[in-house]
Amino acid sequence: MTSSCWVPVPEDSPFPLHNLPYGVFAPAGGPPRIGVAIGDHVLDLAHALGDDDTFARPHLNPFLAQGRERWREVRARVTALLTDEAARPTAEAALHARDAVRMLMPFRPGDYVDFYASEHHAANIGRMLRPGQDPLTPQWKHLPIGYHGRAGTLVVSGTDVVRPWGQTRPADGGEPPFGPSRRLDIEAEVGFVVGTPSPQGSRVGVGDFEDHVFGVCLVNDWSARDLQAWEYVPLGPFLAKSFATSVSPWIVPLEALGAARTAPPERTAPLRDYLRDGADWGLDLTLEVRLNGQLLASPPFTSMYWTPAQMLAHMTVNGAALRTGDFYASGTVSGPGADERGCLMEITWNGENPVALADGSTRTFLEDGDEVAITATAPGPDGTRIGLGEVRGRVVDRP
Ligand code: CA
Repeated sequence: MTSSCWVPVPEDSPFPLHNLPYGVFAPAGGPPRIGVAIGDHVLDLAHALGDDDTFARPHLNPFLAQGRERWREVRARVTALLTDEAARPTAEAALHARDAVRMLMPFRPGDYVDFYASEHHAANIGRMLRPGQDPLTPQWKHLPIGYHGRAGTLVVSGTDVVRPWGQTRPADGGEPPFGPSRRLDIEAEVGFVVGTPSPQGSRVGVGDFEDHVFGVCLVNDWSARDLQAWEYVPLGPFLAKSFATSVSPWIVPLEALGAARTAPPERTAPLRDYLRDGADWGLDLTLEVRLNGQLLASPPFTSMYWTPAQMLAHMTVNGAALRTGDFYASGTVSGPGADERGCLMEITWNGENPVALADGSTRTFLEDGDEVAITATAPGPDGTRIGLGEVRGRVVDRP
């Protein structure tokens, strides 16, 4: 139990007092509103803080747009409310059991960018697709590679994912086959939600990361490898990625991640000034990837070459504007170990080494009915752990 918080928080809860992530929930029979998770409960912020304009809303965007000082102020007020016994009688009426509410998409997405920031992931993919060559492409250590994804198909955890159809590479001289993807994969990633906008024509420096980015969540970038292999040259991923990208419902504020900050791996190529680390924004997050309940991998975010502050600086170095609700993801998180790989393509080495599941079946890629869950934990203050919750999704043949 957390001694200073009057809401009981189970010992192993991802959401102790030091976390306080934000989400959008719908109570039974009620309209969507903004809440903060505490233990097994959700605190209804409009009810608890009396600010309906900001919190009696179906998405976080108005709050995100209010900026860092306001984010700090609200976090301090919520912390005070949850630790002040005198506030308990009124605040208790604003608590809902988390298992009695439905979680919704937490923010209204603006633009969506997906990066490719894990050296271990990029090198593994390079070894599979370009054997005998340098596993990293020539620009990889000079800039964080990314592409613009499809913001309109970001979905909240728990949403079923319909197996995509598309064209795949033809056998020699034949027509490209068209049908359901047979190589449907996951990518375990971490996502970053932009709050404060920036004007077109300006740059956001690495040191300004905390002024613009509100918080962090988990991402599953579902990927159809067979569609991707046929379509991606020369312009990159398109329909192999755009059918669905799942996000976790709780956005953990950067303020909650102070104890998780860490130096990124040593840089092995010189960086342009705009990418020099203004602060250490590596994050000590440990992800866990489960397929039908079975642990497949534990990818460490500490091993990511590029930090989210560098991704943001690179995304805006050409003068591209930021809007409230813009979202960017890290790319697949993979560490150096065989049990630290964040997608099935790496875990099964392009399908060569199937994974054995507890029910006796094996997998190279996902089958209909398979359910994938990605969770993550991070150090909290004083040796505690906090969690990002989970992003979960099930593959279905049709809606
Ligand atoms: Ca990805």
